[in-house]
Amino acid sequence: MGYLITSRSQGSISATVLIATTLTFAAASVTAQPARPADTEVHTPVPARVTPGVRGGDPPSDAVVLFNGHDLSQWVATRDKSAAGWTVADGVLTVKKSAGNIETKQTFGSYQLHLEWKVPAGISGTGQGRGNSGLFMASPGAGDAGYELQILDSFENQTYVNGQAASIYKQSIPLVNASRKPGEWQSYDVIWTAPVFNADGSVRSSAGVTVLHNGVLVQNNFVLPGETRYIGKPTYRAHGPSPIKLQAHGDPSAPLSFRNIWVRPLDAASSAP
Ligand code: MG
Repeated sequence: MGYLITSRSQGSISATVLIATTLTFAAASVTAQPARPADTEVHTPVPARVTPGVRGGDPPSDAVVLFNGHDLSQWVATRDKSAAGWTVADGVLTVKKSAGNIETKQTFGSYQLHLEWKVPAGISGTGQGRGNSGLFMASPGAGDAGYELQILDSFENQTYVNGQAASIYKQSIPLVNASRKPGEWQSYDVIWTAPVFNADGSVRSSAGVTVLHNGVLVQNNFVLPGETRYIGKPTYRAHGPSPIKLQAHGDPSAPLSFRNIWVRPLDAASSAP
């Protein structure tokens, strides 16, 4: 290894000194360990084999299916952990606003998630009162506690841009508006990195999220400054693996529907179903 040392005098390089005392050693090392293709090949651990879904959006073989069109056996009411009271009909889950938010029985750390949602055709209302729901990527508490990826009719509906569809609510504006019109199914694909907390409750590493809306990148590894809040600035509270939650928003517009919801845990933190 050699060192190139320059010094400046009166604004110009006046001397250049090359120290070559280690050059002989470096040359000898290269001779002793010639680079080979195999030097940089890694053979273990072998990635687990996963059978992908037949069509885009279908659950892969290792997915935890949270809603497959038949029942709400994977979900409970957020407010009292009783049976989830939303409506299942014709393979579709529809929000029942009077029943409040619902959340998964199972808790999760980091994961990949797929979810499809639809604002009903003929939706009424304006702004945040038009087809509002939400995916709380982790729910460490009651009500709207947690980290909300907004669901809203944003096809032709003005609102604050950090509250439109595909925003991380009041934290991150989506990169683009990839909304389909009411009456058409839309998809979210989410890569969620759960926050990690120290024993004293301080943040060891923040939450992060990447989101595709209808296959279009809208959140690119956004690092969250805390839980999403309707009023005030985001803050963290320490929590472990948490349910995934869907929002029953209180506005009077017609309720949204969901289908084909599945998740792939990415760490060992997720609980058994
Ligand atoms: Mg919402």
